[in-house]
Amino acid sequence: MGDREAGRGRPAGQVDATVVPRFTGPETFARLPRADEVSDIDVAIVGVPFDAGVSYRPGARFGPAHIRQSSKLLRPYNPAQDIEPFATQQVADAGDIACSPFDIERALGQIEAGARSLLERAGALVTLGGDHTIALPMLRAVASRHGPVAVIHFDAHLDTWDTYFGAPYTHGTPFRRASEEGLIDQSASMHVGIRGPLYAALDLTLDRDLGFQVIPATEFDAVRPAGVAARIAERAGGRPVYLSIDVDVLDPSVAPGTGTPEAGGLTSRELLAVLRTMSGLNLVGVDVVEVAPAYDHAEITGIAAAHVVYEALSAMAPRKEAGDRPAEDPSRPNFAARRCPRRDA
Ligand code: MN
Ligand code: MN
Repeated sequence: MGDREAGRGRPAGQVDATVVPRFTGPETFARLPRADEVSDIDVAIVGVPFDAGVSYRPGARFGPAHIRQSSKLLRPYNPAQDIEPFATQQVADAGDIACSPFDIERALGQIEAGARSLLERAGALVTLGGDHTIALPMLRAVASRHGPVAVIHFDAHLDTWDTYFGAPYTHGTPFRRASEEGLIDQSASMHVGIRGPLYAALDLTLDRDLGFQVIPATEFDAVRPAGVAARIAERAGGRPVYLSIDVDVLDPSVAPGTGTPEAGGLTSRELLAVLRTMSGLNLVGVDVVEVAPAYDHAEITGIAAAHVVYEALSAMAPRKEAGDRPAEDPSRPNFAARRCPRRDA
C-alpha cells in the first residue's frame, strides 16, 4: 500500500454522482471500479453468494447483490474517521466467487481457491456473504498468507458449535473448525455482541477452550462502544486481525433481513462506533455475512451492512500525516463531488 506514493498513480475512485445519477449504476459496491478496470488493488471487495450452510431461514445467497444495491449513497469522504477510503487506497469490486449451492465441501474449496487467486492481485479482501460458513474458507486463504490471525467476530451467536445433524461445515461451526485447523490466534480472538439462548452453559466453556473471549451484547450498556473498543485493541493489537461481522449482531429492529435473528442486539450506531476505532489494528481481512434480503424492509439491513463495510474500508485506509494530503485535482471525481454537495444530497 505504501507503493502508492512511489508513483503508481492516483487510485480510481467512485463514479461521479454529480454526472451520473446514483441509481444509474454500475452495479459495483459503492459504484467503485471493477477489478478488471484497475491494475493494482489494495482492497478487493468480493461477493460469496453461498447459503447452503444455514440452519434456519435461507436467503443469504442474495446478500452480495443486496449490499451492493444498498451501497449507492456512500460518499467519498468519511467525516467520522476523517478519511477518504477510496482515495488513499485502491478499492475495487471483484464480483462474486461462483460456488456449488448443493455440495458444501466442494463450495468451501471453490471459495478458498477464489480467495487465494484474488489475494495474488489484492492486498486484502472484504467479503460480502453469504452465510457464515464462508468465514472458514476465507480464513484458510488469509492464514495461508499471514499465519494464524486474531479473529474479532461480531455476532449474536458463538458459531463454535461442533456439528449440526452430523454436518461439520455449517454457518454455526466455522470458528470451531478454524480453531481446530490452527487458523486463528487463540490468544487474541474475541466474540462481540453474543446474546440469546444457548443449548447449555457448557457451550461457553467449550468456546473458551477454542481461544475466544466473549463480550456479550449486554456489556455495551455498562462500558459503551469505547470500552468495548479498548478491550478489542488490548486483545488483538499488534496482530494480524480478521474481522468477521454477522449482521445479526445488530438488533432485529435495525437489521431484520437475516436468517437467525435474536432480540436485544446492538444498534447500528454502536457497531459503527466500535468499527471507527479500528484504524490502529492491522486488518488483513473482513467479511460481512448473513444479509438475507427476503426478510429485509426498505433496505434497512442492506444499508446497515453497506455502512459497516464502509467503516471497515475506512479503518483499513492508510493514514496520511497532517499536511501530507494530495493537492486537490479538479479532474478527480472525489474532489469534484465533495465541492458540490447540494447537487447530490
Ligand atoms: Mn449469527
Ligand atoms: Mn454467524
